[in-house]
Amino acid sequence: MTNTAHINIDLDAVKHNLAIVRDNAPNSKVMAVIKANAYGHGVEQVAKALRGVDGVAVARASEAIKLRKVGLTCKINVLEGFVSEQELEDLIRYGLDAVIHSCGQIDILEKHCSNKKISVWLKLDSGMSRLGFKESDFSMAHKRLAQCSVVEQPVSLMTHFSSADDRNRKVTQQQISLFNKMVEGYSGDKNMANSAAILAHKDALTDWVRPGLMLYGVSPFADCYGNSFGLKAVMSFHSRLISVKIVAKNESIGYSGTWVTNRKTRLGIVAIGYADGYPRAAKSGTPVLVNGKRVPLLGRVSMDMITVDLSSQPHSKAGDKVILWGCGLAIEEIAEAADTIPYTLLCGITQRVRVENI
Ligand SMILES: *Cc1c(COP(=O)(O)O)cnc(C)c1O
Repeated sequence: MTNTAHINIDLDAVKHNLAIVRDNAPNSKVMAVIKANAYGHGVEQVAKALRGVDGVAVARASEAIKLRKVGLTCKINVLEGFVSEQELEDLIRYGLDAVIHSCGQIDILEKHCSNKKISVWLKLDSGMSRLGFKESDFSMAHKRLAQCSVVEQPVSLMTHFSSADDRNRKVTQQQISLFNKMVEGYSGDKNMANSAAILAHKDALTDWVRPGLMLYGVSPFADCYGNSFGLKAVMSFHSRLISVKIVAKNESIGYSGTWVTNRKTRLGIVAIGYADGYPRAAKSGTPVLVNGKRVPLLGRVSMDMITVDLSSQPHSKAGDKVILWGCGLAIEEIAEAADTIPYTLLCGITQRVRVENI
């Protein structure tokens, strides 16, 4: 049973990748982004491996409260903030930071009475039109927050880039300039850079940086892998062959018969499918490692199984080890073959898959 679908999580690689973040941003504090169960890696164990980091960020209050309850004492920033007074009370009770991105939130803060204060991050919408105040409202929002008795002073400041992973576009530079202009004269901590900006936009490195993906060893850029920055993949996705057989020429393979053999073919059936988080969109030809050697996926990915061409491996047999990504096979390559990004693959590992630490 030990070789069925499982992920290996290399917590030493998390520590190594944090050191790479610090090398790239030596004068910044690091707010490690561990939302979405630490990008599918298991948030409690990743938070432990990151011990000594200056702070962490999650998307939702529920994620942050769970971390407080297991004893995490560092700064925890809730990137989506709060929408109700009840939620604000929870954030204050658990000593969580909140991102402030709308007037409605400031209305709630102004009305709120509490002798415990909350640390907030005022967010500028510098071009993504997701969360944050537009340029025209930013100073007003800052002024109101500066006068809120429940808000810890000074107010910290942040923005988020829309296109930092595309090194050829000027928009990131414009976002940096806009942020710098808007926060001029404010004494609060400044915080802009995600992984891509940490690696490609040195002028986005301010008091804090907010790496996510690179902590997990993965490149935010489409044109290179994490190892080109010295990063180590944290997650490896494993399963095993459960059947090996020879099929004749002109046999169709898998649902809808999207692959038809053009010769007698040695086929392997692997116990992995989209119900485990292997992407259904992976095309025929997507590489899979069998006993450490690359072989191509053939036909459609099913719920629990995939089929691979073992013609180059005459001695392979049921029970042999398979790696879908991670050790020896970059997740960036699989993401490209499945027309997606590594983020969705990492976050998509399902409940059925066992987690092992190495
Ligand atoms: C997810 C997220 C990050 C981390 O981004 P990566 O590309 O994974 O480094 C940083 N800031 C915000 C606001 C985010 O939502």
